Amino acid sequence: MTDAGAIRIANLYVHVPFCAQKCVYCAFYSEASSGELINRYVAALVREMELVAADLKPKTIFFGGGTPSLLNLRQWETVLRAMDRLSLLGAAEFTVECNPATVSADKAKLLRDFGVNRISMGVQSLDEKLLDRLGRIHSREMVFKSFDTLRHAGFDNLNLDLMFAIPGQTMDIWHDTLREAVAMQSEHLSSYEVIYEDDTPLFHQLQAGEFDVNEDLACEMYETLIDQATTAGFVQYEIANFARDNSELRTPNSELPSRACAHNVNYWRGGSFYGLGPSATGYVRGVRTKNWANTQLYCEQLEKGKRAIESNEELPPLKRAGETAAFGLRMNAGWPFDEFRRATSFDLREQWDSEMNELAGRGWASREADRFHLTRQGLRFADTAAELFLR
Ligand code: SF4
Repeated sequence: MTDAGAIRIANLYVHVPFCAQKCVYCAFYSEASSGELINRYVAALVREMELVAADLKPKTIFFGGGTPSLLNLRQWETVLRAMDRLSLLGAAEFTVECNPATVSADKAKLLRDFGVNRISMGVQSLDEKLLDRLGRIHSREMVFKSFDTLRHAGFDNLNLDLMFAIPGQTMDIWHDTLREAVAMQSEHLSSYEVIYEDDTPLFHQLQAGEFDVNEDLACEMYETLIDQATTAGFVQYEIANFARDNSELRTPNSELPSRACAHNVNYWRGGSFYGLGPSATGYVRGVRTKNWANTQLYCEQLEKGKRAIESNEELPPLKRAGETAAFGLRMNAGWPFDEFRRATSFDLREQWDSEMNELAGRGWASREADRFHLTRQGLRFADTAAELFLR
């Protein structure tokens, strides 16, 4: 619970750990659902919200997963009514991740009525064969249909998630998917390269030699992504994220496009957030927490009235600042030196002078009077660049 007078935490993440079936590449914590377990989870989640509500005044909320849209109307209503009772509604940005196969007009209306104002739709591809290849449960037609359903329900802030460098995906297929996706006129686009996570079916297929990874093609696809998205009017503001910009809607003094995802920007800027639900991580006043990645255990703990935290970690300030530096460099704006000092109490120029010079020397970064940021070439290698900042 909060100390009297402490500023309440403004960002809330909720993990919904259920999916209709597991996609072949996915390492997120989620499991095939059963009605009873979802009901039990919903009750436990409400209990967890009750335990932290006094310390929360959300400006951004993000329900991710898993597949949050898998919850049925009654389950959503239970969660949203509890949030209303606990004064957790009214966030400026309230996002729910949806799978195109689980969007309905009734669900969209319910979410909208309770203040959800942004939907992130996991599309991944608009090629039917690749959707099958990935183990997605939706078809390309469902993407277009669900998008229309969400628009009709009044959502004017929609994100599409795409994936590239999928085994079997040619450059022509990627071009077509991008062309069709940008034609949908969403406000936001996220696109990630396939990652081969340990213990996923896709990883095992790679190890078994069922396909090869083509890094050159992946690089070309990333370049194509940037070109096609920016030509279509999106502004890239992070390695994998693009948003529309309307200067009238932009937060005063913000360098970000108006439709940038404020919730994710808070992560990249090292801000605090509560993470609720199985496997969720949180970061509150310098302490990182991780909930049990086990829905049964999560429910048992909360049924006893306790938070389901598996681990707590308080990072030494310099280590934390290094992580914050690394995260923030994912953004095109990089780190304004003043902002970094406000966020971490450290000065990038004092602690990471030689690292910044090294990256600038490689052509991966630009060091300017007021800030340090990665170049277009450097953003492609941001993970390698970021490692230099970790302490
Ligand atoms: S729908 Fe999302 S969370 Fe669920 S298995 Fe597929 S990628 Fe993972």
